[in-house]
Amino acid sequence: MLPPATTQYAGPMTRRRWIADTWTETSATLQGEQAGHLARVLRAQPGQVFDVVANGFLHRAEVLSASEGEVVFALKEQLEVEAALPVHLLLAVFKFDHMEWGIEKATELGAARISPVIARRTEKHLSQAAAKRVQRWRRIVREAAQQSRRSDVPLVDDPVALKTALEGVSAEKRLLLAETEQENSLRNELARETSRESQSVALAIGPEGGWTAEEMALFSQSGWRHVTLGPRILRAETATIAGLAVCAAMLQEP
Ligand code: SAM
Repeated sequence: MLPPATTQYAGPMTRRRWIADTWTETSATLQGEQAGHLARVLRAQPGQVFDVVANGFLHRAEVLSASEGEVVFALKEQLEVEAALPVHLLLAVFKFDHMEWGIEKATELGAARISPVIARRTEKHLSQAAAKRVQRWRRIVREAAQQSRRSDVPLVDDPVALKTALEGVSAEKRLLLAETEQENSLRNELARETSRESQSVALAIGPEGGWTAEEMALFSQSGWRHVTLGPRILRAETATIAGLAVCAAMLQEP
């Protein structure tokens, strides 16, 4: 839908989505780097119209004031948005640079929630540093959500041990990506469901050294089924992307 004639439309090149830092029922505010970029680089002016996500809803929004520290918008009509992929990712903590890349790509591919898990084979120094790293992971998903024009930001939980993470999973279908599984593919497991709309999925991906036998047993006791992504052993970040791509192909309408 076109914006009202009285507003100055900022044009398709600038129709990137902005995720508000704060909001009320009628206004939204960007702060910090986002505000600086919009005010300084894109030279936002009062009257220009952008798309802004506030409180999980996407709005057309008109700039009321713009300075490097703060851009304030009046929220206009709510726009239709695509739903996140109904996938909850349990991601064992592994080498941070690889893991962060995986988290960014998982966000682009639509994951709704990411739970970092301290696995038995997560390296000790990574387990110890994970709690402090979560703020950075949340920044990454926020930036990736904005860049990929999502209208929501995936939830990133605090890192916890596997047993606690499993207790927080409510998805109906729970699938453990396991390089030891040779028959049951992720694709086949997702195809079992007849109603795509009702399907919510949890996917678990192990650390560089894989899950221990004890952890595998814990998954099985909690109703998780083992699935394969094929005969090759993938790095954890590759398995994350491949797993989500299969979910997107099976669960998402084009
Ligand atoms: N245990 C391993 C080893 O041989 O050292 C490798 C673990 S792999 C690097 C990390 C994780 O990616 C695994 O725990 C699993 O969740 C996932 N993964 C890797 N290849 C896979 C495959 N072919 N099918 C399903 N999951 C896979």
